[in-house]
Amino acid sequence: MLEPIHIIGGGLAGSEAAWQAVKGGVPVVIHEMRPIVSTDAHKTAGLAELVCSNSFRGDDAALNAVGLLHEEMRRAGSLIMAAADAHKVPAGAALAVDREGFSADVTKRLSAHPLVSIDRGEITGLPPSQWDNVIIATGPLTSPALSKALHRLTGEDDLAFFDAIAPIVHRDSIDMSVAWLQSRYDKPGPGGTGKDYINCPLSKDEYHAFIAALLAGEKTDFKDWEKSTPYFEGCLPIEIMAERGPETLRHGPMKPRGLTNSHNSHKKPYAVIQLRQDNRLGTLYNMVGFQTKLKYAEQLRTFRTIPGLGNAEFARLGGLHRNTFLNAPRVLDEGLRLKCEPRLRFAGQITGVEGYVESAATGLMAGRMAAAERLGEAFVMPPPTSAHGALINHIIGGHIETTDQRGSSFQPMNINFGLFPPVSLERQPDGERLRGKQRQTARKHAYTSRALASFTAWLGECAGQKDPRRAMRQSVICRRHCGTSTK
Ligand SMILES: Cc1cc2nc3c(=O)[nH]c(=O)nc-3n(C[C@H](O)[C@H](O)[C@H](O)COP(=O)(O)OP(=O)(O)OC[C@H]3O[C@@H](n4cnc5c(N)ncnc54)[C@H](O)[C@@H]3O)c2cc1C
Repeated sequence: MLEPIHIIGGGLAGSEAAWQAVKGGVPVVIHEMRPIVSTDAHKTAGLAELVCSNSFRGDDAALNAVGLLHEEMRRAGSLIMAAADAHKVPAGAALAVDREGFSADVTKRLSAHPLVSIDRGEITGLPPSQWDNVIIATGPLTSPALSKALHRLTGEDDLAFFDAIAPIVHRDSIDMSVAWLQSRYDKPGPGGTGKDYINCPLSKDEYHAFIAALLAGEKTDFKDWEKSTPYFEGCLPIEIMAERGPETLRHGPMKPRGLTNSHNSHKKPYAVIQLRQDNRLGTLYNMVGFQTKLKYAEQLRTFRTIPGLGNAEFARLGGLHRNTFLNAPRVLDEGLRLKCEPRLRFAGQITGVEGYVESAATGLMAGRMAAAERLGEAFVMPPPTSAHGALINHIIGGHIETTDQRGSSFQPMNINFGLFPPVSLERQPDGERLRGKQRQTARKHAYTSRALASFTAWLGECAGQKDPRRAMRQSVICRRHCGTSTK
């Protein structure tokens, strides 16, 4: 009988970590505080609840870094990707899921596994000392009691920034005589039709009136401890983007490119607001990129000035939330363990990755690492050329140089090709120089094909390590060469 791995937090990372460990034959106990204690963003008792968007972003493994991460996870037998694929809803080139079906599936598969126990309750301090192999995957909204204990242990200042929730609208309250269905550039993507988004057009005057309303609207007050917290650049609230200049939103989430108004193809919209399907039934749509800290009454007033949303009914309004993460390059080792207390391993957003997929991917790694440790096996790190390797390198080596007063520039980050070792690619096989878009596409292909080849080879190596015949051969080789046996 093996002692279990204790996993604190049954979110995206904790659920994936548990799955990977039990697949390796090691029992786990998942400690999840919901529904006894909840967070500001979670609403259910389900494992792997998606707190905001229902999108896992782009699913193109050849040209897109997060699509590549999806594919690597699928090849590694990921529970999160299996449930996402089983519950996908149409979303153009993106992988979006029915959030309830997705979470219910993850909960069911884990609850049914004989090596998984689920213990509902908050862990209010450092885990008991007899828990020798722990994964902390408590996410951006780690409960205050545990955060305090961790900060006391690491000696680090609290590092935090804001994420914001985008509003969700009832589909039947959208005026489709004004709005139209179309994916940008008509891209069908996996499982889509090319008509997966609802588009609301704005004229120049309507756009500028909307920007003025955003700027004038009353915002949620910051608490004192939140005031000096930096925003994550990839997830800025719309009013903060509007503050940066009146045209900023038109070049961001409200860009009109790749869209033609089907009601009047001659009338080019000056700006567009897109809404993406949020549930399998197709009854709810979320406003893409519309995270906001406007007060609820202001949101209702301002968003109903958008053409097509005059009578919009909101299933959920936007909000703002704090994100807790460790200064990982300083406090974690390459096994994602706390240097000062190695029995504690971390996974998910708390390690300084950003996003559902990235959180789950670090869970995948942490689960495998913890299982290998329990089984007394060496863990071979994934190659840095793979998306998983690039993420781990970001966590343990990312951005440690000081660029501001806080002593470290480490910030949570989505997967992107900038985290990979560069590829050199200047010419085509026939010797001709690559230029412009052709060069960009070739570079992305070079990153993704190299990553998939190296990750697949790594998976083979990991599987080979577990092969008893190979272990036996290694043991014989070792006895011959060093006069001793491996464990
Ligand atoms: C408001 C908000 C919106 C976000 N929107 C998006 C988005 O749209 N797209 C995206 O890709 N990413 C988004 N993120 C970022 C991030 O990807 C998600 O938060 C993701 O769920 C992180 O995965 P995780 O496993 O690290 O944490 P979570 O999925 O949050 O899981 C952590 C779990 O730990 C539990 N827990 C916490 N403390 C304790 C404790 N002391 N004891 C026991 N259990 C505990 C929680 O209840 C939770 O179930 C958002 C984050 C926030 C806060």
